[in-house]
Amino acid sequence: MTVPVFRFAPSPNGALHLGHAYSALRNYSMASAVGGRFLLRIEDIDTTRCTPELEAAIYRDLSWLGIEWEEPVRRQSEHLADYTEALERLIEAELVYPSFMSRGEVRAYIADREADGTTWPRDPEGAPLFPPVDRSRSESERRRRMEEGEPCAWRLDVEAALAYVARPFFWEEGGNGPEGETGPIAAKPGLWGDVVIARKEVPTSYHLSVVVDDALQGITHVVRGRDLFHATAVHRLLQELLGLPVPHYHHHALILGEDGRKLSKSRGDTGIAALRDAGAAPGDIARMVGLQATA
Ligand code: GLU
Repeated sequence: MTVPVFRFAPSPNGALHLGHAYSALRNYSMASAVGGRFLLRIEDIDTTRCTPELEAAIYRDLSWLGIEWEEPVRRQSEHLADYTEALERLIEAELVYPSFMSRGEVRAYIADREADGTTWPRDPEGAPLFPPVDRSRSESERRRRMEEGEPCAWRLDVEAALAYVARPFFWEEGGNGPEGETGPIAAKPGLWGDVVIARKEVPTSYHLSVVVDDALQGITHVVRGRDLFHATAVHRLLQELLGLPVPHYHHHALILGEDGRKLSKSRGDTGIAALRDAGAAPGDIARMVGLQATA
């Protein structure tokens, strides 16, 4: 029998808050309930926002909560070659294209299209879909701009990718989506448009690294917040394109602030370290997020 493998994958770009505590504790208890392994992965590809101090604080907060993980911890910044290899396969298969537009150009393009009152299509998070400008550039223009050293991101050509897969694909949802979705879910990555696969400043993106790492680490169960439910469609598409195994997914409820809003790393009040400094015990944290205290 294969041993189930779970992971908690925070980004060290802010202090862990109650939402992270809930996710880490849910992962950890689900792993122990089935005799599974529990891995910690540091998602630190955003070199401008992730710091060693914040990473050290993650280790401190998680151990204080009573969580134990296997060593060595996989730090994404140390594995860029793995993501580059996956990116190169997508470039080779012509499923991604170089993207030169700046944020300002994208904004201007969309504002222009919306000037007559029509609404530009939006993704599940409400952000406007990427315009088809870079996708339509000629091969010679792409080559020339890249040869001139102009920085480019790489975006998934979602239409080409769906045509390449050429059949519906699904994931097994053990938790719930925002509308209560559960069980087999038909993936609809087209809702996101041409997502970024590699950024201008780093040769990967959240979507690419997460699927490459889940596969390389043999993750069988992805347990994470419901805010990532819709992104799973993109992850499933990348798994199809790269021939990667498909884990079970379990999206759990988000811990909301008193104002009903999602917690953010910039809101110190619900930070684990801040609560600890104010005298909270690990068991108090578990109870605050509605879990049974183990300590
Ligand atoms: N690194 C992501 C975050 O902190 C989580 C990624 C995942 O669990 O798939 O939101």
